[in-house]
Amino acid sequence: MPSSPHFVAKMLAVAMSKSTQFSALTNLANLTEEDLKYRYEHKIGNHTVSKIRQRAYVLNALNDNPADVAAKEILFKMLHCSASRPCKKPYCPMCRFNRQEEFSNEMLAAFSHLPASQLRFLTILHHIEYNAAAIVHDTIKDLNKKIRNLLNEFESDQNYKIQLLGAFEIEVFPAGAVLSDRKLLSLTPLNLQPTNNSPFFLLHFHAVVNLGSCPDTKLLSAFKSKGQYPNKYQVLLQPLYSTKTVSDNLSTLAKYMLKFRLQYSKPTSAVGQNQLFARTCYASLYSSPIAKSIVMLAQRCNNFNGLTFSRM
Ligand SMILES: [Zn+2]
Repeated sequence: MPSSPHFVAKMLAVAMSKSTQFSALTNLANLTEEDLKYRYEHKIGNHTVSKIRQRAYVLNALNDNPADVAAKEILFKMLHCSASRPCKKPYCPMCRFNRQEEFSNEMLAAFSHLPASQLRFLTILHHIEYNAAAIVHDTIKDLNKKIRNLLNEFESDQNYKIQLLGAFEIEVFPAGAVLSDRKLLSLTPLNLQPTNNSPFFLLHFHAVVNLGSCPDTKLLSAFKSKGQYPNKYQVLLQPLYSTKTVSDNLSTLAKYMLKFRLQYSKPTSAVGQNQLFARTCYASLYSSPIAKSIVMLAQRCNNFNGLTFSRM
């Protein structure tokens, strides 16, 4: 049986024996023929070189401990991912690209016929964890239920219908991360421990919302009521960009929600043009143990299926 431990161990041994190919992955000057094929068959979208580098970096991070069977199973699936047998891991560039495209299509099918005036980009900051292992599938399920219950109650009290399509995201801040004033203000009430110099994980949620006829203020106060999300900057409801079409907005946002970033943010002085995305720049890859922990974390949360959210 393909799933027996013996089979997995044997296949892992085969994968590991290709170690020359594997270590070559880390050096862009030495891209293997297989990776060049992967790149040039247009399976991973834009920024191919950096995506291939990130893939190699994830594979190496997963390969840090020969005894870690769970990590090696992911590594094996990513290493042998192909169009006919996709690994469906969020940190695999091809599978992420395909899921982003699918999600963008779902978003367009759901909302592109609606006027921008009733669509919003919702962000909810949940809380901060210092122990990545504490974040499991049930953590996400609980947050999912909390949002659904709140909206069910809101709709039964008021005569509105709220639709959401989105995803949970877990952003990692490395040890000693420099936080902007805005981040400090928004994160301090969510269990940020300013003297704790460990990496931390911010659980948050993004969605496109169809407000229907509901005013922003009513939905916002529903989120803040009953002590659910009481803090400043914890819930944001932002309009779409007026300079772009509704479809372009929806597609960009859908892909943004499933970015599964491997780089950490630094505050910049950039102001103006693109307020949703321009506050930070993303330059530095996480350290290898952090990269491994977020890959394992996504796996524990059931990857794309566990982290996406639909309330239509
Ligand atoms: Zn894959």
